[in-house]
Amino acid sequence: MNEEKSLNFLEEIIEEDIRNGKNDGRVLTRFPPEPNGYLHIGHAKSICLNFSLAQKYKGKTNLRFDDTNPITENVEYVESIKNDIRWLGFAWEKELYTSDYFDTLYQYAIELIKKGLAYVDDSTSDEIAASKGSPTEPGKPTPYRSRSVEENLQLFQEMKEGKYPDGSKVLRAKIDLENPNMHMRDPLLYRIKHAHHHRTGDKWYIYPMYDFAHGQSDSIEKVTHSVCTLEFVPHRPLYDWLINHIGIFPSKQYEFARLNMTYTVMSKRRLLQLVNEKHVEGWDDPRMPTISGLRRRGYTPASIRNFCERIGIAKRENVIDVGLLEFCIREDLNKTAWRRMAVLDPIKLVITNYPEGQEEILHGENNPEVEGGEGGRNIPFSGALWIEREDFMEHAPKKFFRLGPGLSVRLKNAYIVTCDEFEKDSKGNITTIYCRYIPNSKSGEDTSGLKVKGTIHWVSVPHAKTAEVRLYDRLFQAENPLDTEGDFKESINPTSLQILEKVYIEPDLLNAVPGKGYQFIRKGYFTLDTRSKPDHLVFNRTVGLRDTWAKEAKKNG
Ligand code: ATP
Ligand code: MG
Repeated sequence: MNEEKSLNFLEEIIEEDIRNGKNDGRVLTRFPPEPNGYLHIGHAKSICLNFSLAQKYKGKTNLRFDDTNPITENVEYVESIKNDIRWLGFAWEKELYTSDYFDTLYQYAIELIKKGLAYVDDSTSDEIAASKGSPTEPGKPTPYRSRSVEENLQLFQEMKEGKYPDGSKVLRAKIDLENPNMHMRDPLLYRIKHAHHHRTGDKWYIYPMYDFAHGQSDSIEKVTHSVCTLEFVPHRPLYDWLINHIGIFPSKQYEFARLNMTYTVMSKRRLLQLVNEKHVEGWDDPRMPTISGLRRRGYTPASIRNFCERIGIAKRENVIDVGLLEFCIREDLNKTAWRRMAVLDPIKLVITNYPEGQEEILHGENNPEVEGGEGGRNIPFSGALWIEREDFMEHAPKKFFRLGPGLSVRLKNAYIVTCDEFEKDSKGNITTIYCRYIPNSKSGEDTSGLKVKGTIHWVSVPHAKTAEVRLYDRLFQAENPLDTEGDFKESINPTSLQILEKVYIEPDLLNAVPGKGYQFIRKGYFTLDTRSKPDHLVFNRTVGLRDTWAKEAKKNG
């Protein structure tokens, strides 16, 4: 269990910093979501990483809403993000908003202007793009680059006061138009946007760009290790340049590979399209890779944390098999889910020698994987049972260890039965099968001496309750939906949701609560849907039982 794990590259950096007494050994990380959508499993990786790194080195983690884009952000997203982080099991030190720093950031911009390191540019965005050149061609100054400090101060203040329309001016850093790194070719710091902000209201007509807000916010909070994804590697020189030239606390940026996963898309922008175009029920649709979707599907916080731990952190882009996520939830639910019986596609089994009108209360463990079984539940039994259609075959092949004419099985937690006859409807579908039971073969007190190979699940007909069951498959058919020719939504799996309207469940399942996992014996892991109603129960299948991923892993060594 406690085998020594080698350090990941971030842990190595932090330990080195602590050894050198950097920041007095203090570790402060942050998780900086933009509140423009619900969090997805990729964010979970970043959350687990930032919070666990801090925990490991007795540090802290801030939650900072990166709310610099007034148009796409709102309070619903803020609340959902906080809820998801708490649910994952993490507690932030401070809840902060980049918008709280707008005044400070504005002052920083003025300082840069005063130092001759920023200027107001009236060029259009196309003109700016063209003047920047290309990676192989140096950029050229626009006519506005040589504006005086006074003029820049005046114009920037007027931008702030709302005197100019959107897009008519920007504030740019004056760095180096020939720098091989395009991000250093006089990047934009501020844009004009006459927009209402969900926190600052109508106070601002200018909003800082990501590059001007992010590092400065890190610095204001005295974040020591600012961890982000690899696409920000080329932004790092700018991150350092701004902090150095403003002369504020030297936060440092480190990059790791973002999580990509097969058969899904992982960007809020695309997930929002799925929601808006009603390809899914909402952000928390159980097929979505969002944390809220996974939660509704029946994933546990422990399974997601475990998944993030297993994939580790890398410095190279990679794609994780979604099978690993499924493996992690299966592993967790095998230890925690309570066993119950439900019949998804029923036929009737009548026990011909069971005394008419008799019932019994049998007992079943909640979880045989745990010592003591975690208690148990009562299971009513009678002479009429629902069993799965697939557990009976009229012409059974040799290794079919279930029911067919003359075949015997054990009924889970109950008796051994032998099939004598069956009935079909006019279309040739089996409707009822007739069996005899062996009275002294009851589970736990079997003195029959009989041995049978198969055990099947069942629900007593007079005691059965009903529920709707939703079976989910991958939302996309393509391993990488973004590789699809045309729109990624063309690879949406048309059969990703299968609804079984009437499933028979054992009565104890009336006590089910959302968030608790149940293994429907032989059928998979299920949880009560958050929108389930007492008079219309709905269960979601979290994941099937078959462990295809482990098999594959074995095969591939
Ligand atoms: P998206 O493209 O899905 O909108 P984002 O990076 O724009 O993602 P933010 O809200 O800006 O989303 O991200 C908050 C934090 O989560 C950032 O530090 C970001 O690097 C991290 N993050 C986002 N997606 C992933 C991912 N797939 N894997 C790991 N970390 C991620
Ligand atoms: Mg973003």
